[in-house]
Amino acid sequence: KNIQNKDNLALVLHQKDVLKLEQWPLPQQLAPNECLLQAHSCGICGTDVTLWKKGFVADFVVKKPFVLGHEPSAVVIGVGSEVTNLKVGDRVAVEPALPCLKCQFCRSGRYNLCPVSNLHSHGLPPADGCLRRYYTHRSDFCYKLPENVSCEEGALVEALAVVVHACRRVRVGIGQNVLVCGAGPVGIMCFLVAKAFGASKVYLTDINESRLKMAKQLGADGVFVINPKTFNDKEMAKTIRSAIGANSLGVDIAIECTGVESSVCLAIHVTKSGGKVGIVGLGADCKIPLSSAAMREVDLIGVCRIKDDYELAIQLITSGKLNVKPLITHTFNIKDSVKAFDLLKSGTEGVVKVLIQH
Ligand code: NAD
Ligand code: ZN
Repeated sequence: KNIQNKDNLALVLHQKDVLKLEQWPLPQQLAPNECLLQAHSCGICGTDVTLWKKGFVADFVVKKPFVLGHEPSAVVIGVGSEVTNLKVGDRVAVEPALPCLKCQFCRSGRYNLCPVSNLHSHGLPPADGCLRRYYTHRSDFCYKLPENVSCEEGALVEALAVVVHACRRVRVGIGQNVLVCGAGPVGIMCFLVAKAFGASKVYLTDINESRLKMAKQLGADGVFVINPKTFNDKEMAKTIRSAIGANSLGVDIAIECTGVESSVCLAIHVTKSGGKVGIVGLGADCKIPLSSAAMREVDLIGVCRIKDDYELAIQLITSGKLNVKPLITHTFNIKDSVKAFDLLKSGTEGVVKVLIQH
């Protein structure tokens, strides 16, 4: 299919605070193992907002203009000569980071830690992302969406796979009590996945009551509104421990999904001695009660993106075990994508997952 005269409108982050819509060069060639993709939907994530407002996230620093977007679904419109898993017309969820599959990390089964993938991760600087109409991607990192999964749901697979990875990392299992800090799209999906993994009770915190309301509607066992003005981490941990009962020992697992310092502190204090804290939220490079974690053998467990989690994420949706549709509260055309970012940043009531469509 010839796309050479098509428009390739893209959302480009030039530097901190400077987001622009502009035409981006069309893909010029297709490697034998790649697919040519026409964008369908792409979610905006907390990471995108952090990149936009701070100019960096974790070790990813914006040094030149690049296209945002790492939560895409797309339609295959061309396949390279060696592609066997997909054909033109297939709808796919795209796993954005491409590991080399050769280094020590990849060979040991931890491809999400591959240093090459940091340079080839759609939508994290320096690699261009998916908020453009046409792009290419390696076919082994494109996953066909089953008939009963929409492209909108497909755009949630990336974030869902991150939380599947998180729940696997901290080994959420049957009968456990889990506190998820933050009820953004990642936090809410984390609660849904923890439930699907057999957790008996899952609780959430947030400063935004409307998000907690959604979590409650989706079946959270308890929610805690955080007031940043009066917040004290130890006091809040006490409040949560007594509210959830469990002999006031705390939760088995806390999964931090805010990236906020005080929330990381709470996650540590509220976790039972011998328990685990999963660190999903990014941005809190900060002071934490490390001695408390040490003396109570609370393990802090890092969570980096995705490692072979797309298939289970798609399976959870297609089987009906987990419904991500209610999280999608707003969709915008790419032409209005700057507005979409403003809306997400504003913290407006009722805004959870914002999708951009092409
Ligand atoms: P989001 O910004 O929509 O959600 C964060 C939520 O935390 C918001 O609802 C906000 O109101 C809430 N919050 C803020 N301060 C709080 C506090 N003090 N206590 C409780 N809640 C508070 O973002 P998201 O898309 O849900 O992503 C969540 C985090 O996960 C981000 O930091 C993002 O960068 C990170 N992330 C990490 C990975 C990874 O591989 N580790 C992957 C994807 C996203
Ligand atoms: Zn993300």
